[in-house]
Amino acid sequence: MPEFAKRMGEVNPSVIVQIASKARELKAEGKDVISFSIGVPNFLPAQHIYDAAHKAIDEDTGQYLPPKGTPELINAFLDRLKEDGFDYKPNEVCTSLGAKNSLFNLAFCMLDEGDEVIIPAPYWSSYEDMMDMTGAKLVKVHCGSDQNYKLTGEQLAAAITPKTKMFIFNNPCNPTGMVYTREEVQAIGDVLEQHDIWVISDDIYDKMIYDGEKFHHVLHTNPALRDRTVIVQSISKTYGMPGWRVGMAASTEAVATKLATMNANSTMTVPGVAMAAAAAAFGGDHTFVYKERDTFQQKRDVVLGVLNSIEGVVCPFPRGAFYAFPDVSAYFGKTYKGETITNDVKLAEMLLEHVGVALVPGGAFSEPNAIRISYACPMDELKDGMNRIKTFFEACEGEGRLSA
Ligand code: PLP
Repeated sequence: MPEFAKRMGEVNPSVIVQIASKARELKAEGKDVISFSIGVPNFLPAQHIYDAAHKAIDEDTGQYLPPKGTPELINAFLDRLKEDGFDYKPNEVCTSLGAKNSLFNLAFCMLDEGDEVIIPAPYWSSYEDMMDMTGAKLVKVHCGSDQNYKLTGEQLAAAITPKTKMFIFNNPCNPTGMVYTREEVQAIGDVLEQHDIWVISDDIYDKMIYDGEKFHHVLHTNPALRDRTVIVQSISKTYGMPGWRVGMAASTEAVATKLATMNANSTMTVPGVAMAAAAAAFGGDHTFVYKERDTFQQKRDVVLGVLNSIEGVVCPFPRGAFYAFPDVSAYFGKTYKGETITNDVKLAEMLLEHVGVALVPGGAFSEPNAIRISYACPMDELKDGMNRIKTFFEACEGEGRLSA
């Protein structure tokens, strides 16, 4: 067999997908497993979105559609951006097969081998693999639980070198659930203003913010960044539509044109039915979205209530997305039924084996002191799973790493 391209050498299959598959396998074997592993919303889109999809099938012409997206979708997205305080023109936007596709295409269009990409760690694992494929170097800036997993302006300034080409900012953040305040965003924006680098703002969880907190964007605090910032959006999480595969990018005409060139030579276009549904999602009534957000807030409260009651577990309070990211390192070195919890991966394996809860070890997000709990699941499962986790931790014995 001929060799694969060298650029694929470093790329890992997604740990999250592997764990979710393992949990599904165990369930299929009849095991009692609760999965907190995958970040997929557990609700379906509202009826007006399905109606738009049905109408698109009825009116289908079977033709290729524009690589940038249909005017109907672009206009609906621009309306949504306007409501959120952003002003873009139709030629400054490009559609893709999910935010993942936009992010990959942006990396492909903007990065050369050896370029440096700064990212606050912990971060969503796919960024790393995408960067590996372009040959760019990911510069991870560690932001631990002691600083609520949030990057400071000083940390960003210290990480920038002449090779820095891009900064990736994901707020609200997967895996931590952290939401940056206006001052925190501004501190980052002030540093970015001083350096000519691309700013990729992955905003796909911006409607999933709790406790009445507001979403603050670097383009609101630092509008001077407009010409080198890309807003990345998606229908996956906000509208419960990950399988419909529609993502959007908004930036300058030059960026949108490069992205459209990528589409034209790879995927060509997003399927028309999905674009019609996405237009209805972005442009339609958002009542169901806010209802789901409020339900997520209740689930967040259940998760944090349990985590805060477990001695030694430290969880910075998540105010967005649907993840909690507790620091569990105090348990590394302790034993459960005689077996030692050596690290995050071992802990995740033991939780699955002994109490039937699947979750993702923090190392998958570059923070091996933690584990990620996705609470996008039904409330009864959530309560059951959280009680199992508590029972597990309370049965652990011996000296943990931090008490050693
Ligand atoms: N960005 C972040 C931070 C995510 O968590 C995810 C999915 O989990 C994506 C992008 C990908 O979203 P999409 O389904 O639109 O490709």
